[in-house]
Amino acid sequence: MLLLCPVRGCHRALTRDARRAVCPQGHSFDVARSGYINLLQPQERRSKHPGDTVAAVAARRRLHDRGVTEPLLRGIAEMIAAGPSDVVGDVVLDAGCGDGFYLGSLARQIGFDAHGVDISIPAVDAAAKRYPPGERMEWIVANADRFLPYADRSFSIVLSITARMNAGEFRRVLRNDGRLLVALAAPEDLIELRRTGRDRGDRTVETFANDFTLVDRRRVTTSADLDSAAVQDVLLSIYRPMRARPAEAMRVTFSLDLLLFRPR
Ligand SMILES: [Zn+2]
Repeated sequence: MLLLCPVRGCHRALTRDARRAVCPQGHSFDVARSGYINLLQPQERRSKHPGDTVAAVAARRRLHDRGVTEPLLRGIAEMIAAGPSDVVGDVVLDAGCGDGFYLGSLARQIGFDAHGVDISIPAVDAAAKRYPPGERMEWIVANADRFLPYADRSFSIVLSITARMNAGEFRRVLRNDGRLLVALAAPEDLIELRRTGRDRGDRTVETFANDFTLVDRRRVTTSADLDSAAVQDVLLSIYRPMRARPAEAMRVTFSLDLLLFRPR
């Protein structure tokens, strides 16, 4: 996969070796020991909000390992498989991949070429350790809010799973016959731990309307009896925990709205 230099006004192709990636203008980026490539620029590294923290990443990973998110993963896999394309031959970008659970699991099940990008170094490091980079698996740290470091029309599928969205960039890197799958927290997601849930589906469809047409829409919901440690992990894994009280064992709902789009 061709990577582009993230420096504003440059965006030239990066040449890679085992240690670093360099563009013709001399902008240079390190390959980490775990194998991901760090395309953050110095001012982005100093940012106060570099995405998920180590604690949030570890908490989310423990929840995945308990299997509570397995039905959500199945829902996403079914929606991708429902398309007409040759899924095994797909080239898939997960924009905002976090710890790589969804992309890494789907890639192992289905066997497509997997590319994950996220702004959080702890999250991408965890992804690279769990799903080692290789010919068909690549992990990048970059600020995808601004620029996805890939050439135009690189991917046949773009995933955005409870992540920040950049419709213009998603469209640019997606092939004309490709598909975009957006997963949003549904209104009842973690409702036991939040005061209210919002339905963001319609607004998201409007946000994407210039570049994409909605072709399928599904909701996948599951719930799990969690002990207090797992409830604490849920609280750690969401950005703004609503409760100050210590976690107690409870049944918790997990729910995603899945929106499948085609480019206009
Ligand atoms: Zn450059």
